[in-house]
Amino acid sequence: MMNPFGPQWSGASQKAKESKAIGDQVQDALFGKRKPPGLDPDDFPETKEILALLNTYRRKFAMMAGDAEDQYRLQLADGTIAMIDGQGTIFIGIRFLMQFKNNPEVLIGALAHEIGHRPQRWTEYKTKKELTKIELESLCRYEETRADLFAGRALAEVNLNCEPMITFLKDIEEGPHPEYFPASLRSEVIKEGYNEQKTKATIRQKLWPELDKQTSPRLHIGEY
Ligand SMILES: [Zn+2]
Repeated sequence: MMNPFGPQWSGASQKAKESKAIGDQVQDALFGKRKPPGLDPDDFPETKEILALLNTYRRKFAMMAGDAEDQYRLQLADGTIAMIDGQGTIFIGIRFLMQFKNNPEVLIGALAHEIGHRPQRWTEYKTKKELTKIELESLCRYEETRADLFAGRALAEVNLNCEPMITFLKDIEEGPHPEYFPASLRSEVIKEGYNEQKTKATIRQKLWPELDKQTSPRLHIGEY
């Protein structure tokens, strides 16, 4: 029997819907969003200096996250603030970039947040189980919290203030969002990461200055 407005039920041969791996579902929910259009920095020379600065921090933060530098790339984009896709391409919106080029802690904090997601690690979660909407949203909030914690730690490691990023998050807050905690809670998480890492970095610099010189992301200039 034909069903003109619905699926073609095939009766006995219909298979049970196969569950996807949990990692793939989270990757889809978090990093599978539609990508913003990319822009060529050659067409926007005013972005070059700040992009070069962000690239030095990309290397530091990749190292801090325990990943290789080439797992992350910066892509100038139109119509976004900042987002990362499943392959580690970090899209930075040109308006956001220009708005904060003289206040780069906000940009560097956003970059750290994106790298803190470490999207490629989700492909390792192979367990197959169809997540409910609630479960998926809760995993997304957990994931955002991890990224914020990393951002706080990363800013402390490179001796930058976390307050500008917190102010920015509060300024852009538009109301409750199922995948994010409110800005007030996010700022607590960022500060917690910041304070924890600040203590560690200070002790390391004081007690093991040589080790600090060799291992600190603050002094890391890249893999060659
Ligand atoms: Zn995020």
